[in-house]
Amino acid sequence: MQKTTLSAALRCIRQPHRLQSRQPLRARIPHHTIQPSLCRAVHARATDFLPTNIPDWTESQREVREAVAKICVNYPDEYWLERDNDKSWPEAFTKDLAENGWLGICLPSVYGGSELGISEAAVMLQTIAESGAGQGGASAVHMNIFGLEPVAKFGTDEQKKRWLPPLIAGKERACFGVTEPNTGLDTLKLQSMAAKPTPDANHYVLKGNKVFISTAKVAEKILILVRTTPLDKVQKPTQGLSLFYTDLDRRIVDVTEIPKMGRAAVDTNVLNFDGWKVPVEDRVGEEGEGFRMIMHGMNAERILIGAEALGIGYAALRRTCNYVNDRVVFGKPVGSYQGLQHPLAECWMQLEAARLMIYLAARMYDQGSTDGAYANAAKYLAAEATAKTCERAILSHGGMGYAKEYHVERYQRESWIARIAPVSGEMIKNYIGQRVLGLPKSY
Ligand SMILES: Cc1cc2nc3c(=O)[nH]c(=O)nc-3n(C[C@H](O)[C@H](O)[C@H](O)COP(=O)(O)OP(=O)(O)OC[C@H]3O[C@@H](n4cnc5c(N)ncnc54)[C@H](O)[C@@H]3O)c2cc1C
Repeated sequence: MQKTTLSAALRCIRQPHRLQSRQPLRARIPHHTIQPSLCRAVHARATDFLPTNIPDWTESQREVREAVAKICVNYPDEYWLERDNDKSWPEAFTKDLAENGWLGICLPSVYGGSELGISEAAVMLQTIAESGAGQGGASAVHMNIFGLEPVAKFGTDEQKKRWLPPLIAGKERACFGVTEPNTGLDTLKLQSMAAKPTPDANHYVLKGNKVFISTAKVAEKILILVRTTPLDKVQKPTQGLSLFYTDLDRRIVDVTEIPKMGRAAVDTNVLNFDGWKVPVEDRVGEEGEGFRMIMHGMNAERILIGAEALGIGYAALRRTCNYVNDRVVFGKPVGSYQGLQHPLAECWMQLEAARLMIYLAARMYDQGSTDGAYANAAKYLAAEATAKTCERAILSHGGMGYAKEYHVERYQRESWIARIAPVSGEMIKNYIGQRVLGLPKSY
């Protein structure tokens, strides 16, 4: 019997414009400055599917947008709904990105990467999320895009040769283990330990727990931060933490999935380990310097999570504007009623304001700035604007907003992630309060 869908019962919602056949990523996309004529270009319409005429983007950002869009268009909302319903890893999508050379966008070209900046990586992740993939698509490749920056920056040539090519080719997946159940955002107090059985041993032995570790069910590798010197034996709490990139040895590491609100395609897990032998050659950089190395990539990660959130926000706005244009109640499209139209106009303005901040922070990062104010503020604004947009999306759809078939409830569930991780809104406000406003620390 043919399945009757909710959308079949209503008039058809406009389908996204289908792009032409996909083309491989150029070996390297050169950086260009923005063309003056494009600065005057009219902004994209919120109803368009992955428009490229974003006024402030550079030519290389537009090229990334267009090329990634050509891949994403083959994975419509229905693909992502199925992954979410079945809790199944988006294998075809990640393989497609790998085959087209996207998994090493920020990594060195000598190992197969494209060596582009965070400004381009943010466009890539925004585009993936905005295509309807949401966090299901963005989180599946997030670690590839920037996760191994500490390795690229602080690893030896031998390590980079060993680790980067398989990651870039999509042959290995990696997860990132920082958060712990007993310490939460207080990273410097984390309790997992690594010790050498004897000073000249060629391995460490790891013991501890991690929580909320995304992709650990499918990853072959883990980048993990643990203490090698107890907190009471270091001069500063930032010392004594070490970073390892190693095999996620499932014979020793117990991985238990956490049932969660959304993003079911990508698993999140508790890790327990005791007696996990990790070779010395899998330590990244000097012993005790792990926190400094993690900090190096922190601003970039915030920018990228913010860009992913933005993508969800624009996807929700696109679906909603198309829906309220078509849905007629009381003789008119519901989008003509100001009770719906004005909040959606506010959502667009807030998303755009956050987007300008995200790409400003990205540009500053690419130009060498290590200041965290803009990266933090941009992530916060993007997460909040997206949360608000997803809420309005559901309300504007009425009952259909609550039905999975209309996708906005999935976006809404996924929009929560950027409000919590990798750092919460409260901690961002602490940062701005102390570092920008010059106010006293409360904790
Ligand atoms: C879907 C998902 C995926 C994740 N993936 C990963 C991953 O792959 N790897 C990884 O390492 N981690 C991951 N995380 C963990 C994430 O980074 C943490 O959840 C986040 O950093 C918050 O830490 P916590 O949950 O321990 O909250 P807590 O530290 O327990 O905080 C609880 C609440 O208290 C507030 N709070 C705490 N301290 C202060 C303070 N000083 N001032 C004001 N408010 C404060 C927080 O803002 C929050 O509201 C993931 C989380 C989620 C939800």
